Amino acid sequence: MPQEEKTTVARNREAENFADRYDALRIEMKWSARWQQDPSLYAAENQSAKPKYYALEMLPYPSGALHMGHVRNYSIGDALARYMWMNGYNVLHPMGWDSFGLPAENAAISANTPPREWTLRNIANMKAQMKRLGFGYDWSREVTTCLPDYYRWNQWFFLKLYEKGLAYRKKSKVNWCPKCATVLANEQVVNGCCWRHEDTLVEQRELEQWFLRITQYAEELLRELEKLEGWPEKVRTMQRNWIGRSEGTLVDFKLDGDDSPGSTITVFTTRVDTIYGATSVQLAPEHPLVARLTKYNDPLRAQVEQLVAEQRKAKEVGDIGAIEKHGVNTHRYAVNPYNGQRIPIWVANYILMDYGTGAIMSVPAHDDRDYEFARKYKLEIRVVIMPQANDPEETVTEPPLPFTTMQGMLVNSGPFSGLSCEEAIRQMSAHAEKQGFGKGTVTYRLKDWGISRQRYWGTPIPMLYCEKDGIVAVPEKDLPVILPDKVEITLSGGSPLARVPEFANVSCPRCGGPARRETDTMDTFVDSSWYFYRYADARNDQAPFDSRTVAYWFPIDQYIGGVEHAILHLIYSRFWTKFMRDMGLVQNDEPVQRLFTQGMIIKAGAKMSKSLGNVVSPDDMVARYGADSTRLYTLFATAPDRELDWQDEGVEGIQRFLGKLYRVVTDRTETSVLAGDGLTESGRGPSARALQRKLHQTIKRITHDFEGRWHFNTSIAALMELNNLLSSMGPDIAAGNIPRQDLAEAKRVLVLLLAPFAPYLAHELWEMLGEKENLLKAAWPKFDPELAKAEEIEIPVQVNGKLRSLVVVPAGSTEATILEAALSNEKISAMIAGHQMVKKIVIPGKLVNLVLR
Ligand SMILES: [Zn+2]
Ligand SMILES: [Zn+2]
Repeated sequence: MPQEEKTTVARNREAENFADRYDALRIEMKWSARWQQDPSLYAAENQSAKPKYYALEMLPYPSGALHMGHVRNYSIGDALARYMWMNGYNVLHPMGWDSFGLPAENAAISANTPPREWTLRNIANMKAQMKRLGFGYDWSREVTTCLPDYYRWNQWFFLKLYEKGLAYRKKSKVNWCPKCATVLANEQVVNGCCWRHEDTLVEQRELEQWFLRITQYAEELLRELEKLEGWPEKVRTMQRNWIGRSEGTLVDFKLDGDDSPGSTITVFTTRVDTIYGATSVQLAPEHPLVARLTKYNDPLRAQVEQLVAEQRKAKEVGDIGAIEKHGVNTHRYAVNPYNGQRIPIWVANYILMDYGTGAIMSVPAHDDRDYEFARKYKLEIRVVIMPQANDPEETVTEPPLPFTTMQGMLVNSGPFSGLSCEEAIRQMSAHAEKQGFGKGTVTYRLKDWGISRQRYWGTPIPMLYCEKDGIVAVPEKDLPVILPDKVEITLSGGSPLARVPEFANVSCPRCGGPARRETDTMDTFVDSSWYFYRYADARNDQAPFDSRTVAYWFPIDQYIGGVEHAILHLIYSRFWTKFMRDMGLVQNDEPVQRLFTQGMIIKAGAKMSKSLGNVVSPDDMVARYGADSTRLYTLFATAPDRELDWQDEGVEGIQRFLGKLYRVVTDRTETSVLAGDGLTESGRGPSARALQRKLHQTIKRITHDFEGRWHFNTSIAALMELNNLLSSMGPDIAAGNIPRQDLAEAKRVLVLLLAPFAPYLAHELWEMLGEKENLLKAAWPKFDPELAKAEEIEIPVQVNGKLRSLVVVPAGSTEATILEAALSNEKISAMIAGHQMVKKIVIPGKLVNLVLR
């Protein structure tokens, strides 16, 4: 072995023994223990002279163990919270458990464990995982939705909603998942299937249900989306579509030759201006009138049943818009109330009962879908809108059909002929209202929120049914209605609570007679609609929370979670906030100022799932690489809003980086104190200046990442660059070229910048640097824009060999950049004017010479 190599090996070995290596486990255990001993470490103050900041991640369902998606979500939130702490804010960063729901019941059946026990054990487990990962939560505010101290307020809110007429009971067709054995809200039906059981078709059943009147807030929920500028546009669009507002007119068509009650067909249209062009009425197969029209007509009934089947199939596939349009003629007629004309009634497979009124007028000349249908079945096509002439002399020819724009004028429309479409809509709606056969209206796709669930593990609905008094609310003083513990759980046969006589049979608080408790429980989305208010005042046993405390903390400054909650949770909680505002409980109109939706984690090109065997367990990663490396990797692999493709080698790479950083910061190579204030007479030399510049550039970049788009992957890349520079400066440091205070400052700042991302290692190094202040509250470093600037040099510009000006460009600029700077120099451009440029000579870093004639 050559002498030189031997020395290198020996030196490396020595270095390893000397500078203790980065031992993630030792460091993380040490700090974990210390943090446990100080429960007030992350505590928020409900009153403070500091500005407040409410940083929140969506609370998990306690399934038993965290998955990597959680780790990513919380790593983003924790980095933000730590950054805000270091910026001097009074930070509220709480955590809780969305702990009611079906999996606990399934576990009760399959593992024979009571849901409560199963849930609380899972919570303990996941809480320990969170602590091990080093997330800085204020556990004194922990919220567990399945405990009576929380769900009693669900019940209290329900009573308030009931008092205000916002909770009501009605019999209705409901979505029923046979696997869940319970009702689903419209929002929980995805492509015709259950949101939990993607392969299970949702059935329709008729049941008595409790509903919350969210539609009362539809207009405001829609309007105020405009104000939510801190929300991703895609989420706002999803909510806008979900609310689905359309302005139009309701028009009653009479069934020809039948004046009996229920013989009116109410049609909803956004284009009443085209009604003289209606050549048929189309009903949804499930429209109530259809049963009557087919009653004595077996062949027709069979055809309609076929349409129902086609519609169901299309719902299964999930795209009713793409259905092949079929219809059947009932050979009955409806009367157009505007002109008394009889038009045929059809039943069509593309008309949905749950949209609008389940009936439309078909105007083939002016609607794409109606045109297609009319062509197929050879129905009459009648033009009633013509393009407007540009000048009165011009003759307008019939437009190509269908002619669907609003830029037109009515023809063949009785007294309304000659009006513009817009004006006609106004006048014709008013006419309908005056004549009593219709009115202008606004409809929404959003439906009232059905909250009854025939399940056990949820909040009992605080209502009673008295034989004498009917529906009776449980008096407020009797809350909470406690969910009984010993219940036999099965996934069929209706509400398990109905089989518990001690629970179900009570005496009526009004008359003392026998009454029956409501045995359905609430949809768990009720729990998550207001949980984040409870964090502000989590131990209050007199009210859901103190209004003044909530006024201090709200709105939430930053909410972070998965985009899958864009509609359900985020619409319900907006509704709940508006209702609480109208009760006078809160002052804010909206719960969340800024929303961030993180990307999914996949592995080997697929979503992590047990069946694919590609699940990465956070516990394994933490055991192998440490919590810091695991967290840092989820932030470094890609921007937080992008999909992350998990690579174990990536975590390994991050661990190596942290090891290198550890060595750089703990390296004790002596540097000599230079003259005076530690600088040479001419100030800092090139390498000292390079370090200073890099340091300020790094602070600038990471600060901007936090304040801007959260591209923490570039923040961490910047940390790596700074670390690499320091690591490569060994010879400079040994030679005394870096002032000692600069080096100390660089290490200190490196640790401060690391703190939001890898808190364990940062705390350890901070202490090793001799710092006494708690790193959590140490001031975030400031950058000096001047020092962060790239180094600049002056370049002389000659014209015909004579020095005429100097231009300043960044060091290392290319020929093109230098030439551009020279040509745009005021003095030079004045000299060039009117001359011919013969030659341009650029010597990068030195000189520009322009030869003019
Ligand atoms: Zn289901
Ligand atoms: Zn009674």
